[in-house]
Amino acid sequence: MTDFHTRPFLSVVVPMYNEADSIVEFVTQLRSVLDELNCTYEVLFVDDGSTDSSVVSLQNIDWPQARVISFLVNAGHMAALDAGYREALGEYVVSLDSDLQHPPSMIPAMLDRAKQQGVDVVYAARATRENDGFFKRVSALAYYRTMRALTGLNLESSAADFRLVSHRVIRVLRELPPGRQVFRLLIPSLGFSSATVLYTASPRFAGKTKYTVLKMVNLSADSIVGFTTKPLTISIRLGLTVSLLAVLGFIYVLATYFAGRAETGWASLLSTILLMFGLLFIILGIFGLYLGAILRASMARPTYIIDSERNRPETSTT
Ligand code: UDP
Ligand code: MG
Repeated sequence: MTDFHTRPFLSVVVPMYNEADSIVEFVTQLRSVLDELNCTYEVLFVDDGSTDSSVVSLQNIDWPQARVISFLVNAGHMAALDAGYREALGEYVVSLDSDLQHPPSMIPAMLDRAKQQGVDVVYAARATRENDGFFKRVSALAYYRTMRALTGLNLESSAADFRLVSHRVIRVLRELPPGRQVFRLLIPSLGFSSATVLYTASPRFAGKTKYTVLKMVNLSADSIVGFTTKPLTISIRLGLTVSLLAVLGFIYVLATYFAGRAETGWASLLSTILLMFGLLFIILGIFGLYLGAILRASMARPTYIIDSERNRPETSTT
């Protein structure tokens, strides 16, 4: 049963992985914003298996509204968000990064927007990416363009995972089995009413990005495999086009042979074979990604394991 008296109005979900150098400053800024708001709130720090002193720093902070959920091992940003969404009790839930790139000072504007416009989702999107490095800018541009083209979803550019969702959205998310969800695509795909506020992202407060290239590749693969089967149909079209080219080439070879001037040359033959094998392996790899996703879903292994929880309220979730 839900106890509406102890349920906070706002939950803030904060994934955190080895952010020892920024977490204290983050807490100071977030707390001053939340204490100014005239509402009840809770903050859920989801420690994604940090190996530095992030958790110790958090535990030393006296903040009754702060809960800390610690994963046994690093499970990824999306898994941390998933755990936070499942545990959040608030009427509204805001998620933001713990490196101060997402300014906590935007939270009141996001809440106002949700209340005034009566929407279930408020995306905080970057007005510009001028504080990002070249690689981040190019990879983000490529990611959002590709995802829009492949999924047909109306994605807010650079909205990432700084957003507010209502409890209605949370209830839908909780119905889904735990897995490698890509919330930045999943939430727009659900069709809830939404609004967007713009913000300027600061550079990281301290430390380096925790999104390694491998994590970015995994996120992109999960985004494609989880939201579209277009690469499979593209593979078939590619296969048909290449086969047609091969038939034309064959006709050409036969024609020159009968005309008595057969073409020779191993270099062109070799490059054609290499190209064909390359294409074949790429297509096999694409099939493999989908197969792997089905296998993971059928095995239903946990995406993350919660090692400990600090400050969990008695209230049950709905
Ligand atoms: N993060 C996480 N688990 C990971 C990687 C990142 O919980 O495996 C957190 C990280 O602490 C931060 C947020 O996810 O709060 C976004 O990561 P980061 O700032 O490194 O990504 P970037 O802004 O460079 O894309
Ligand atoms: Mg960041």
